[in-house]
Amino acid sequence: MVLQDLGRRINAAVSDLTRSNSLDEKAFDDMLKEICAALLSADVNVRLVQSLRKSIKTTVHFSSLPPAVNKKRMIQKAVFDHLVALVNPHAEPFRPKKGRSNVIMMVGLQGAGKTTTCTKLARHYQMRGLRTALVCADTFRAGAFDQLKQNAIKAKIPYYGSLTQTDPVVVAADGVAQFKKERFDVIIVDTSGRHKQEADLFEEMTQIQTAVNPNQTILVLDSTIGQAAEVQSSAFKATADFGAIIITKTDGHAAGGGAISAVAATHTPIIFLGTGEHMMDLERFEPKAFVQKLLG
Ligand code: GDP
Repeated sequence: MVLQDLGRRINAAVSDLTRSNSLDEKAFDDMLKEICAALLSADVNVRLVQSLRKSIKTTVHFSSLPPAVNKKRMIQKAVFDHLVALVNPHAEPFRPKKGRSNVIMMVGLQGAGKTTTCTKLARHYQMRGLRTALVCADTFRAGAFDQLKQNAIKAKIPYYGSLTQTDPVVVAADGVAQFKKERFDVIIVDTSGRHKQEADLFEEMTQIQTAVNPNQTILVLDSTIGQAAEVQSSAFKATADFGAIIITKTDGHAAGGGAISAVAATHTPIIFLGTGEHMMDLERFEPKAFVQKLLG
């Protein structure tokens, strides 16, 4: 189920309730059931859905509402607030400061959209007056450096990589050292992903993290992975302790619930959404605006 469908279904459940003649506790329970079913089919984790249901019930406390209260407004607000709380971990995301070298390391599985997102992010910072550079520490995937290079050239962003050095830790350290010396404000390090061989990947990630000492590590998460998002993000969190998430491919037919579950599992803010394959397709993530858009 795509995000807009989820929003439509939640809206419909609230409207059904508030339009019904008998706005009683059973109708309220039915609405909650329908909202939870919608969230579950959008891949939101089952525990999260249960706790959302419980907390809406507690907040609204239907049976003790005085007759004069505007129940519709109250229920709508409770649903809205609880959905916002689900995607808002109340952690301030990192903001690079001009005049010092901010190192950002990107992690994620192969195919998640890391390399594409690196350029999008570099462009974003560059447009805001920060001198930005890219380092390709993905020596695992053939063609990764070439892909980053093509993107970087198109976006006019300086880049570093090697066709001969096979140790990603050396490439990452050398690239960051060079751009630090050249006083770049933002240095974004692309790392490799794997489909399997997870132990290798996590070992490599830790080594690169130690070598470049990033100010911010960002997990790039593919929105199409659904329920797997929770497990995947928790595994990355345990190793790379990322401080922000970027969700990619939100323009496709992905259920957004996996992303919501990843935030809740790792208490980490989503900072951007990838909304397409092009360089400009990056949107800032704001919990309230996200839920507002979701509910239409
Ligand atoms: P990496 O292996 O993690 O570096 O992934 P890539 O950056 O190579 O991306 C894998 C594929 O996903 C490419 O075909 C990208 O064009 C595509 N992609 C990345 N981000 C998005 C996005 O936000 N929307 C869409 N539709 N495609 C994306």
